[in-house]
Amino acid sequence: MLTHSPKQTQKIAELLIKTILENPRKSPRIFCLQGDLGAGKTTFIQGAARALKIKNKILSPTFVIMKDFPLLAPFKKFYHIDCYRIEKPKEILNLGFKEIIKNPGNLVFIEWPERIKKIIPKNAVWLEFEVRGKNKREIKVKNK
Ligand code: ADP
Ligand code: MG
Repeated sequence: MLTHSPKQTQKIAELLIKTILENPRKSPRIFCLQGDLGAGKTTFIQGAARALKIKNKILSPTFVIMKDFPLLAPFKKFYHIDCYRIEKPKEILNLGFKEIIKNPGNLVFIEWPERIKKIIPKNAVWLEFEVRGKNKREIKVKNK
């Protein structure tokens, strides 16, 4: 998909969340967002959070690796994980990653997932973000 503005990128995320909400039991819950700095990963996650009525502002977590927000039933928590500063998967495992991804009530969005590829479950959906112009971004679903 090609998006022409941050707003449009957030709209795409919103549509993804709507689809999940329509069929929570059958939808993927772990999303891996790949792409360079400024490609729109955090912008997309902001759109997803807004669609889930999360009031807090989703930021690029400069020093925070992981942030969670409560969700309404049937979900439990929304996780925003940024592995930019991660050197070893162990750093994420130490934050309880295994339990987080195991819980079917959690929705998990991961930036820089390639840094922890070894510990990402097979059922995760991989999205690739690419800069195509000043305000243009391409979002692709990757086959893994
Ligand atoms: P990342 O998390 O991938 O590093 P961010 O979402 O933090 O990227 O930043 C993306 C930047 O690109 C923002 O400054 C945003 O305003 C800008 N931008 C311009 N066009 C788009 C677009 N179509 N989609 C998303 N972001 C865009
Ligand atoms: Mg980011």
